[in-house]
Formats: sequence, structure tokens, C-alpha cells
Amino acid sequence: MEQVIKDFVDYLGEIRMYNQAVAVMSFDSSTIAPKGSIAARAKRSGFFSQKIFEMSTSDEMKGFLEQLAPHVDTLDDITKAHYRRAKKAYDNGTKIPAHLIKEFNELKSKANAVWDKARKENDFAAFAPYLEQVIAKTKEIAGYRLEEGQSLYNVLLDDFEEGMTMEAYDKFFGKLREVIVPLLKTVVNSDKKYDTEFMKAFVAKDMQEKISEFMAEKIGYDLDRGYITESTHPFCSGSHRTDVRITTRYDENDFASSFYSVLHECGHAIYEQSTSDEIAETSLSRGISSGIHESQSRFYENIIGRSLPFWKYITDELKTYLPEEFKNITPQQFYEAANQAKPSLIRVEADELTYSLHVMVRYEIERMIFSEEGVDVNDLPRIWNEKIEEYLGVVPPNDTLGLLQDIHWSWGYFGYFPTYALGSAYAAQFVAYMNKEMDVDALIEKGDFATITAWLTDKIHRHGSVYTPTQLMEKMSGEQLNGEYYAAYLKKKFEGLFA
Ligand SMILES: [Zn+2]
Repeated sequence: MEQVIKDFVDYLGEIRMYNQAVAVMSFDSSTIAPKGSIAARAKRSGFFSQKIFEMSTSDEMKGFLEQLAPHVDTLDDITKAHYRRAKKAYDNGTKIPAHLIKEFNELKSKANAVWDKARKENDFAAFAPYLEQVIAKTKEIAGYRLEEGQSLYNVLLDDFEEGMTMEAYDKFFGKLREVIVPLLKTVVNSDKKYDTEFMKAFVAKDMQEKISEFMAEKIGYDLDRGYITESTHPFCSGSHRTDVRITTRYDENDFASSFYSVLHECGHAIYEQSTSDEIAETSLSRGISSGIHESQSRFYENIIGRSLPFWKYITDELKTYLPEEFKNITPQQFYEAANQAKPSLIRVEADELTYSLHVMVRYEIERMIFSEEGVDVNDLPRIWNEKIEEYLGVVPPNDTLGLLQDIHWSWGYFGYFPTYALGSAYAAQFVAYMNKEMDVDALIEKGDFATITAWLTDKIHRHGSVYTPTQLMEKMSGEQLNGEYYAAYLKKKFEGLFA
């Protein structure tokens, strides 16, 4: 058995090499690759992706899985994780007829192009027939992976956050709705208005670059194993814990935009840089899920970066770079400016308080789409607008600012949206646990981020993908995701600012 395990892990290691090559090519595409290289790179990247698919679904892989299956319960945690992940990839790759995948990919590219035009021209009617087909195909394909008694939407939810179900999300969003909707009304009706104008002070790009590097190092991102550059949308890309890169974008009249992007991406990067030696050379040396990953980025961006203790610490440091621009600004003023909250129409521009309401609208609509009764696609814009009005108190004047704003559904990404609300919720839950062992605010105010990162590394980072999100939560706290922590965090913070 020992030899089988060794061969199996080596085989997975080879697949990982191809994955690493694809990751670097994809990073290049979004940053420094010349425009003229698109076609050639797509060909190379397609070649490696095909290799990954072939190896993940090969007879050799089948052989490994069959030999290991009877022994799964006695395997150590790391081998068990290898098995679980390889089995899932194998099943997903072999259960669905190849021609369906091909058809679906073709349909998605068409749907995506139509969506792009429809969004620009505010023309939902043009997109509707494509959306209908994407939904039908998604249902058909998920049907092949459906297990006895399982619902279609749960298959999709599990793809993006292993172990999460409608039942868990219903409970979670139910709690958020109960607290955030009335809280937002308090904020909207508040007489307290804070100055944000000073945040628009001109800060030249090269100065912002210096501040980015300073902040990144301060917070614990190791630049010997990392790299900061620019792209249209900020992101983090890791191929190995010794090579984890992030991007940002600079707006010279809004330094906070890049400042918070860098903190956010550093959270992702520190996670990827901090896996344990035991798994560093294996395919498990990656963050486990988008939800847990986002909990780390939001931890550094919001729990730390949008707190008053953080501004008490960083204001003087920031003034060494920008002595004139922020001469008379106090930590309290930075804190207030960094925590504006108001209802808006666009998810990606939403603030910390309202963001999860946008996600909740999408979750509820997806839930309807994949329920037994289904929903008529032509009714979706109306349903969308009604929900936005109910939760946020604003009405989209058109579909471009409504249901057409996100790319996800045109790509068949159903079940992805709800994970966007998990990050902040997990992060609030983690800081509550952390506070039982240490005074987190006091550490932040001292600028002692290393102690905070050490806690996160011990509980989360070092495990990479060994445990599923639900197993990780269980191991850490004996408790699953619980919306109460996040609701309490928001209530305390925003009542403090606006009540
Ligand atoms: Zn992120």
C-alpha cells in the first residue's frame, strides 16, 4: 500500500506541475504579456489544460482510486485529502459525456459575448434566450452528478464551497437579513455624515507604489517570495508558496482604492505563502476554497484595515509618506471615511455593510431557478428589482444596473455568488475566536500583525487543502459557519458609527 500511495502522490505532483505552468501563463496574460502573444499562449495553455484533464481522468488514475478505496478510512489526513480531491476530479471528468461539455463551452462563449453587448445596450431581451439555454444545460450536466436524494442546486453549491448546502445558506442568510436590513435603515436615516473629501487628495502613482510595498511588508507578505504589479482588476496568483504574486491598480485621486486592494490581496497571498512543509511540494499546498480564501483577504482588508485601532497605528506611518496631504487628519477621521455605508446598485462597488445583501439577492434568485418549479427567465429582471428594493431600498432604473451587471450567469457560474458572502462572515467568526485568546485590538494598535498572522497560520494557512471548509471549522472551533458572529460584528461597528 505504501508504494501505491507514493506513486499516487507522485502522479498528482505531475498534474500540479501542469497546473503551475497554466497559473504563470494566466498571470502573464493579465499583466505583462504582449497583446500579440494571445493566440500562441492560448494554444499552450490549452495544451496543458488538456493534459491535466487527461491525467485526472486516466485509467492510471482510476487504478489508484480503486486500490485506495477500501483503505480510505485508515489513511492519514493528508493522503485522505489527496484521495478525496482526486476522486472528485475523476468523477466530475468522467460522469458527464464529453460532447455535452463541448456543447456547453461553445454555448457559454456565445452567451458571454451576447451578455457583454446586452449589458452595454441595456437589452435583457437579447440575452434572455441564451440565459435560458445556459440554465437548461447547467441543469442537464448537474443531473449527471446528482446523487440519490440530492437537490440540483446543492450539487452546484458544493462545487464552489465543499460541504455547503441550501439548508446551511438559508440559515446563514436568514440571520443576515434579520440584522442587516433594519441596520441599513438606521444608517440611511442617520444625521451623522462624515467627511470623505480628504481621501481624494492627489497621491502620485510612484508614491502609492511605495506605500503598497510598505503596507505589504508590514502586514506580513514576504516580498522575497512575492511580487506586486498592476492589472485591470486586482488579484492574487500563487503557483508555489515561494512564488505568490499580487496585483493592484492605482487611482491618483483615490489612494484608498489601491491601499485596500493591497491589504485584501495580501490576505490571499499570506495564506498561500504559509502552508506547512509537509504539504509544500504537493497539490494540497493551496487555499482550500473560495470562501475560506476570501475570509483571509477580508480579515486583512476589513477586520484589521477598516478598524479604528489600525488607523490609530497607521496614521502617523502614513504621514511620513504624505506629510502635507493628510496634515490635520486624525485616526478617527480616517476610520470614519473608510467606513461609509449607503445602499447602492452595483455589487462590486458596495461597502462592507451592504455587500452581503447584494449577494443574498443573487442567492435567492438562483435558488428559485434550480427549484422544482423553476422560474420563467423573462420574469428575472422584475424579481431582481423587487428584491433589491426590498433589501436595499433602491430600485435599479434599468437592467444594466440590475441583473445584467455580473458576468457569472453568462459563464454558467451558478452557486458561486453565495461564496462571496462567506469570506466576511468567516472572518468575523475567526476574530471572535481569536479574541478569546488575545486582545486583537491591542495587537492591531501596536502594529503587531505577526501575532495575528501566526494564529491564522496555525488554525488555517498551514493546512492548505487538507481539510474541507466544514472539517476545518470543526477542527478549529467545533462549530460550523454561524451568521450570528458577522451580524453582531456589523451591528457593533455600524451602530457605533451611525446610531
Ligand atoms: Zn479576494
